[in-house]
Amino acid sequence: MTLMRQLFSLQELDLALDSVRSRKAHAEEELETRLTLGKIEQGIEEEQAKLEEVQATHRNHQLEAETLRERVSHLETQLFGDTANPRDLEVLQLEVNNVRAQVDQKDLQLLELSVRADDGRRRISSLQEELTEARESWELRQAELLEEVAVLTDEETGLAAQRAELAQTLDQAEVMKYDTLRRSKGGTAVAKVERGLCQGCRMSLPTQHLQRVRSGRYTVTCSSCGRMLFPG
Ligand SMILES: [Zn+2]
Repeated sequence: MTLMRQLFSLQELDLALDSVRSRKAHAEEELETRLTLGKIEQGIEEEQAKLEEVQATHRNHQLEAETLRERVSHLETQLFGDTANPRDLEVLQLEVNNVRAQVDQKDLQLLELSVRADDGRRRISSLQEELTEARESWELRQAELLEEVAVLTDEETGLAAQRAELAQTLDQAEVMKYDTLRRSKGGTAVAKVERGLCQGCRMSLPTQHLQRVRSGRYTVTCSSCGRMLFPG
């Protein structure tokens, strides 16, 4: 077997390893992020924060409304008491009307806030239902992912062993060259030549180059992408 063929086999193992490792990383990432659950939990937190704000505003308005009511009853005591002249009474009456209008406005705001709080509570409870369902399906997905990670880990171990075994039989300097090239070329250091084209960069190779590649006796690199060429 020529060195190029062996390096090409090594690359096939490396590409398989890359793919297994990337699938495993994805599965592990999904296990960690609990994607859907995280989103719903965040939604609940946001709704709860909004609700608390509405409730706090409601409490403040309630206190203000109480103060205003006390003011009304105080003014009414004055109004219906044995107060002096009619002009004072008129002023008092105007103030009572004014404060009563404020009370009405507060009551309206309180009503709106109650409606908003109810809406908020409804949204939270529907999100909580959603969360319960999502937790159930997450448990299934989690089992699937754990199984997938286990299978991929086995595959990875097997491939890594084959890779080590093959690499051991090759010229170490060539393997190092191959490794460096593979890192700099996005995973493929050895490119097949098909119909006169380098499959690494799709550029056509000069005839002389092609003959050297086909002879299999030399290490020929692509003049355009720099990959080692292998007669496919
Ligand atoms: Zn090329």
